[in-house]
Amino acid sequence: MAIALVAVGNVDRKLMEWLKMGLEGVFDEEVFIAGGMDEPGYAFNETRNQYNSTAILSSLHELARGRLLGIADHDLFANGLNFVFGEAWGGAAIIGLARLRQEFCGLPCDENIFKKRVLTEAVHELGHTYGLGHCDEPDCVMFFSNTLSDTDRKGFSFCGRCRRRLRG
Ligand SMILES: [Zn+2]
Ligand SMILES: [Zn+2]
Repeated sequence: MAIALVAVGNVDRKLMEWLKMGLEGVFDEEVFIAGGMDEPGYAFNETRNQYNSTAILSSLHELARGRLLGIADHDLFANGLNFVFGEAWGGAAIIGLARLRQEFCGLPCDENIFKKRVLTEAVHELGHTYGLGHCDEPDCVMFFSNTLSDTDRKGFSFCGRCRRRLRG
């Protein structure tokens, strides 16, 4: 089943194209950039200054069947959590870009670090859409990221066991 990438609001087109190529390298699937969605004002929480990832995910589910990854250039949260890098259920997933930038932590911009994080979080959330759970292997992309240093350490590759389950 092909993987559709959906820009949720304004997302850099070059980044979308780079992500498409990166995902094609990881999954044996066609990846395409589908039509985008409007800015998700309905998901904005003013008090938190964050967007509710679960609400965006619901809209993605309404948009289409099939495997979808939404990309939002926002900081996301889910109920009971201060923030999430992304969220997935069923065939749809969402990632938030804002928190993946070095600038978010007051550090100088680093495009390479940022792009690697985007690919890592995208592969992780899409992994959930294939039915993979979290993995105990610290170098596996399905390891749960609590912090950006987890994301940076694990990278975007599946461990042998997760890769076999993905193919299965
Ligand atoms: Zn996860
Ligand atoms: Zn694994």
